[in-house]
Amino acid sequence: MSGQHETYSEQNNGSTSKGERTNLARRHVDDFWSWIHEKNGVFSIRSAYSMLVNTKMRREAWLEGRANSSDTDRESKSLEKLWKVNVLPKVKIFLWRLAQQSIPTTGLLHHRNMSTSTRCGLCGAEDSWKHSLLHCTVARCVWALQDLDLVEALNNTTEPDARIWLFVLLDMLSPTEFTQVAVTILALWHSRRQTLHENIFQSPLSTHNFISKYIREIEECRPKMTQGTENPIPVQMQTRWVPPPPGVAKVRVDGATARNTLDGLFSDVCRDDTELFLGASVIKMPGVVDPATLGALACREALALASDLHISRVVIASDCQGVIRDIKEGTGGLYASTIKEVNETARDFDQCTFIFEGRLTNIEAHSLAKNAFRLDYGRHLWLINPPDIHCIPMNFYD
Ligand SMILES: [Zn+2]
Repeated sequence: MSGQHETYSEQNNGSTSKGERTNLARRHVDDFWSWIHEKNGVFSIRSAYSMLVNTKMRREAWLEGRANSSDTDRESKSLEKLWKVNVLPKVKIFLWRLAQQSIPTTGLLHHRNMSTSTRCGLCGAEDSWKHSLLHCTVARCVWALQDLDLVEALNNTTEPDARIWLFVLLDMLSPTEFTQVAVTILALWHSRRQTLHENIFQSPLSTHNFISKYIREIEECRPKMTQGTENPIPVQMQTRWVPPPPGVAKVRVDGATARNTLDGLFSDVCRDDTELFLGASVIKMPGVVDPATLGALACREALALASDLHISRVVIASDCQGVIRDIKEGTGGLYASTIKEVNETARDFDQCTFIFEGRLTNIEAHSLAKNAFRLDYGRHLWLINPPDIHCIPMNFYD
């Protein structure tokens, strides 16, 4: 390392470059090399990164003639915070490489005269760190399976500089959300490299499942809180797909509203007990924005979809607990007529059960609802083949 003379100091008995601030050794000890960027003198990657980044920032600030102390302080604090993120070292190192704009996208390789093209090897668009990790085709499919609020927050962060982008996310997101982003971008990068260099294609859903499993493992390793503030529902239970009984199909339903146009929309996705895709539908209508009403209409549509698919035994799962209760009790307030219709239609099936499942087990229908606003008003139906407006795999196990 060229900076070795600046960064190491030779410690010996009574003679050191920092002698005035260092307790002198009173016993005879052999001379040894001490790394001055750590208190204990032992080299660490963390302090080396910190030293390199600080040196670079100081030199850049000096070259550009700007006062740098407060900026550098802020930057140092953000870098320190980045280093403390609770993930495995390989994720942390990837974040550091991203912050240093050094992950080898085609755009970067071209900039360094190591590639003749600036185009993405997967989709042909102009490549950059942001394209590879957020906007490329497979990346978009994986993000579409993530929590929608988190994806919206990412979409609203338009910062082009990777380092500042990470700092903004560190400030804006909760530690859990930031971990989710960190693990997702590393998984996407890994899957992308495998596709481009080893010809191994990993489906968006298997990448998503890998991310969920990895985060569960982090959560399980995290020390348990003692004040009762921890989420009482195990993460595994929240995210796990719950298959229907053998011979029974399952329709997962969800509703969504467009903030600007006052349009309402609900979606239904049907799979059999082996999780094979059977059909999906979306209904978009103007002026219906009450979540419970949309939830009730989604259940009514689930029965219509099951009927279109000639299914006689079905479980309908919604994340709208109130609607499921109203169907079971035959109540419903504003949407009582829809509940009545649902209960009457349900009698035509050999078996029809309505159950509540949290949003995280309902990601597919939720994501379809959020992504279907570009469609025209009316009913949209997909039988046999999944909708191409959103990444829904034929089979979870493919
Ligand atoms: Zn691409």
